Amino acid sequence: NANHTNVALKNSIFLDSIQQHGVINPKQLIGDALHQRVQAIDHELCDPGEEDTFFVADLGEVYRQHIRWKKNLPRIRPFYAVKCNPDPQVIKLLAELGTGFDCASKTEIEQVLGMGLSPDRIIYAQPCKTNSYVRFVKSAGVKQMTFDNADELYKIAKLFPGAELFLRIMTDDSESLCRFSMKFGAAMDTTESLLALAKDLGLSVVGVSFHVGSGASDPLAYYKAVRDAHLVFQRAHELGFNMRTLDVGGGFSGDCFEAMASVLSGALDEFFPPHSNIEIIAEPGRYYVATAFTIACNIIARRTVEDPTLDGKGYMVYVNDGVYGNFSNIIFDHQNPIAKILRVGGKTIYDTSAANPTPVGEGFEYSVWGPTCDGIDRITESTRFDPILDVGDWLYFEEMGAYTKCSATQFNGFSNAHDVIYVCSEPGAKALLDL
Ligand code: PLP
Repeated sequence: NANHTNVALKNSIFLDSIQQHGVINPKQLIGDALHQRVQAIDHELCDPGEEDTFFVADLGEVYRQHIRWKKNLPRIRPFYAVKCNPDPQVIKLLAELGTGFDCASKTEIEQVLGMGLSPDRIIYAQPCKTNSYVRFVKSAGVKQMTFDNADELYKIAKLFPGAELFLRIMTDDSESLCRFSMKFGAAMDTTESLLALAKDLGLSVVGVSFHVGSGASDPLAYYKAVRDAHLVFQRAHELGFNMRTLDVGGGFSGDCFEAMASVLSGALDEFFPPHSNIEIIAEPGRYYVATAFTIACNIIARRTVEDPTLDGKGYMVYVNDGVYGNFSNIIFDHQNPIAKILRVGGKTIYDTSAANPTPVGEGFEYSVWGPTCDGIDRITESTRFDPILDVGDWLYFEEMGAYTKCSATQFNGFSNAHDVIYVCSEPGAKALLDL
């Protein structure tokens, strides 16, 4: 019974796989979970929604990223950026691992506090805050927050004068995937007057923060930002502030993490050496979750394209998720998810070693489209697969953990509440989560 099996796998921890594998191959574990779920769906008889897109999340990958962080940036305590993916199991695991949390709204703060965590494990890292949220964090005991302009200082002085403030400075984010400096961050030549105003208002500035832009690729951006932060620390000391924390923000990605970490560590040792006793924190988001989530989508429709410019036939396939849904990362996060075949003609071909998709010049030409009525809703402009895909077949996309589910809409009435099947390829994480 397809319905029964699906309910059993809904948002579940995929315990069978966790227990079965002595030596755990993460890809195999993810593949097993994908396979079990899709093979249980009878496309001829299933109820609407049963063939919906779904995620497999490997919590072991989040754990490995944490170990990697500790190895490369041992001085920096991460405050995970909840906005990136507020998945409850991810938050739970990171809480167990001892991270703090960067929250930008009342809902995010409530989620973290709702897990019984102390308010001092949260930084309200939003320089332009809603009045009622400031009153809320005051009552909740969340004291750490960022600011970058004078109006915000007046707001905080009125609503929460006991807050512990971080002055967010502008960075050079020109090499980053998502840039923030046109919206946030105080220019260096305004920092002195902002600190003076904070002093006049009787506020407490305890640190400096910055963000070099999400998906940063220039390690020097961190170096320059740390150097600027040091200048602001000196100015703040001169005004009598008791500065205790530097927040180096987010922007880290798995790809060039070691290179970034090495430059950042060097900058910290130069400007904030260990004997300065300055606490260093960061706000990584995508670094922790991007590679931990895989998504599976069902092909709901196909259009055969007879195009003389293609060698032979091509196909447009329409799947049940798109840029208005979990592939919102294509629009908002400048990503380019790669379609791979999960199941074709009733056979699962999730194969971690095979070249999938097919190399250029071979196979058939495909474009992959989302389910809404909008022409912008395209996931893949052009890719190639050997087999002929049809309705009921499945595709999967890896590295779908960052800025995906959290920014999915319900446009056209398509659900954005998709299942997550959790697997865990690390015994250490299993133990922490009590699985
Ligand atoms: N901190 C702040 C203030 C942010 O705005 C963001 C992303 O928008 C992050 C941290 C997380 O950034 P990333 O996912 O690049 O690490």
